[in-house]
Amino acid sequence: MSDLMLEHLTKYYSGSETPAVDNVSLEVESGSLTALLGPSACGKSTILKMIAGLLTPTSGDIRFSDISVLKQPPQSRDAVMVFQDHLLFPYMSVGENVGFGLKMRGRPKAETTRAVGKILELVQLNGLDHRKPSQLSGGQQQRVALARALILRPRILLLDEPFSNLDESLRLEMQTLLKSLHEEMKTTMLFVTHDQEEAIALADKIALLLSGQLRQYDIPQNLYNRPKDRDVAKFFGAQNFIPGRIVSGKFCCPFGQIALPENAPADGKFLTIRPEHIVIGSEATSENSFPATVISKKFLGSQTRLKLSVAEQEISALLSPNTAEPLQSGMDVIVHFPRQSLWILP
Ligand code: ADP
Repeated sequence: MSDLMLEHLTKYYSGSETPAVDNVSLEVESGSLTALLGPSACGKSTILKMIAGLLTPTSGDIRFSDISVLKQPPQSRDAVMVFQDHLLFPYMSVGENVGFGLKMRGRPKAETTRAVGKILELVQLNGLDHRKPSQLSGGQQQRVALARALILRPRILLLDEPFSNLDESLRLEMQTLLKSLHEEMKTTMLFVTHDQEEAIALADKIALLLSGQLRQYDIPQNLYNRPKDRDVAKFFGAQNFIPGRIVSGKFCCPFGQIALPENAPADGKFLTIRPEHIVIGSEATSENSFPATVISKKFLGSQTRLKLSVAEQEISALLSPNTAEPLQSGMDVIVHFPRQSLWILP
């Protein structure tokens, strides 16, 4: 069963003629960690706020375990939201911040104290319960915000760009913590991010939103290697779109005939291959090998970007700096497109 279902969810902000969220339907499986991914202003936070009950949809439905929650106020919905900027009570200690929700629910003091101790241990903040938020680092404050939400054992935890204010190493640390909290507590979690790497690293499934529309909802591997269309492919860094058509199971394009993987779509107008999957050699040794000329080479640190011309099509490849070392602009080479790395787009 799914904990959360969005059905044709649409939101127009007043005065706007284009919807911030446009007919989004999504089923979030119980106990899963799901990412709402997309560029800035694509409607991610608007969706989260509608689920939490902080915004009213223009149309559509939101269902928790198959029951519509549209008429329920935020405090009655079994969903808790963690914001980017923690929103801790500055005059309360860490322990009081974390226990606040249980106190409001009238739980006995001893039970609350026990629960606070347990949850602070889980977010690795034991011993800091008497500090004030101002005496904590940004990462520690975010842990308090997580603990304050998790202590309520919500059916659904909503996280709005929870780690975007943290620096790189702290962000990685918090991602690991979130993953282990999810494994420990099995709470259904929906988190918003604009960072595809974060979504890939954390999520069981990713919902990719572009301009308010849900464009693909899938496991991370499929968004990366099996995108539904060119917009999705571009969002995940694809650059090579070779025009042509499929004839008798092969892709016919200016290079010649290209053998496709067995599960490739049976129809489509573009062949795509990720830059890092292209192989460069000096001899045609196998299928899908074509003569090419190096146009340019750029060192990027861990990788080197190569622009190549293949039958007057420009192709982008990413190689390890060692492999790219002997290659120079103007050099004739052979490009190989491994069959399993190819995909067909509409
Ligand atoms: P994201 O979280 O993906 O960055 P948002 O959901 O915050 O996107 O915003 C989606 C769109 O709705 C944007 O164009 C934004 O400008 C607009 N928007 C967000 N909040 C409001 C608001 N309170 N009033 C009017 N427009 C808004």
